[in-house]
Amino acid sequence: MKLFDVYPLFPIEPVKGEGSWLWDKEGNKYLDLYGGHAVISIGHGHPHYLEKLKDQLDKISFYSNSVQNSMQEQLAEKLGRISGYPNHQLFLCNSGAEANENALKLASFVTGKKKVIAFKKSFHGRTSGAVAATDNPKIVAPFNAGHEIEFLPLNDEAAFNQAITKDIAAVIIEGIQGVGGIQLPNESFLQLLSKKCKEVGALLILDEVQSGYGRTGKFFAHQFSGIMPDLITTAKGMGNGFPVGGVLIAPDIKPWSGMLGTTFGGNYLACAASIAVLEVIEKENLMKNAQSLGNYWIEKLKGFSPITQVRGRGLIIGFDLTEPFSGLRKDLLFKHKIFTGEAKPNTVRLLPSLALKKDEADILLQALSIEINQLA
Ligand code: PLP
Repeated sequence: MKLFDVYPLFPIEPVKGEGSWLWDKEGNKYLDLYGGHAVISIGHGHPHYLEKLKDQLDKISFYSNSVQNSMQEQLAEKLGRISGYPNHQLFLCNSGAEANENALKLASFVTGKKKVIAFKKSFHGRTSGAVAATDNPKIVAPFNAGHEIEFLPLNDEAAFNQAITKDIAAVIIEGIQGVGGIQLPNESFLQLLSKKCKEVGALLILDEVQSGYGRTGKFFAHQFSGIMPDLITTAKGMGNGFPVGGVLIAPDIKPWSGMLGTTFGGNYLACAASIAVLEVIEKENLMKNAQSLGNYWIEKLKGFSPITQVRGRGLIIGFDLTEPFSGLRKDLLFKHKIFTGEAKPNTVRLLPSLALKKDEADILLQALSIEINQLA
């Protein structure tokens, strides 16, 4: 059987990882500043993470969700405390799209409505409901899960004030737009969303799948604005590569049996991985590291003249290039052995491990100097 060919893949097969580094089959060493779309939060092959997973593998507990699993409670307690949401409730699932799907469904249950406000250039995942709230006509299927979505320009207060009515079930917004090119919602815009949602009885969903888990220097990107959303979705960095997702649900939303469900969500290995990630983030002070290295990079990147704009917070950064440098990402990979990401048409995305070191951050800056001097 052949694989269904839907991903553009680099012809590189990693066989070993350590910290921010990867090795391929031929023994080439790569600096990973992308972490498989922000997935690698605490670094490749972290010993504490591997130990927790191996410890779990040695047990017999691979059962899915019909018996008690106290690891889920441990994870909920830790996540609540570290994220600053001790009173929210946690629903565990397997991916970011699934988390958003469940959040949209919850909003519909709670409000009895189906209209949703989303934002231009948003990306919320590829399942039917999540993709319907994604502003990319190329990947939206001709039907969706039944929500009616209106897309508004990010940070346009006038457009939002007009669109937010009593018919709206939910407003869904990324903490920082990732796939859309690292676009930041203004703090005052998020405050407006929070206030208006309360006024009309809509739920505010903060998609922190890419921007969350300490990447910005706070646990969730929206926490810079001081708001408390009804629903927060998370995945990617949560498991450092192990598939896991979650929805943090405000205390006033009451569950009932069968309201949501899952076979694999919150399985033992996913919990072991997620607990290990939180322990490492806390013990190694990775949020602080993300913030200071992010500030350092942003400052330095602004000094390169062919870079027209640098956007981001902590270690979620995008920088725009002038046209002649559009092949830069491939040069970084094939000439300098540095993985980065992209957002079309000309943004390079940096989403490294939160344990990145300063000398590793400098390797990118040196490579950029070489490439930019050659072309200038
Ligand atoms: N939400 C955001 C902001 C994302 O960036 C992504 C993936 O890139 C998703 C949701 C979907 O996550 P997953 O691919 O785990 O379903």
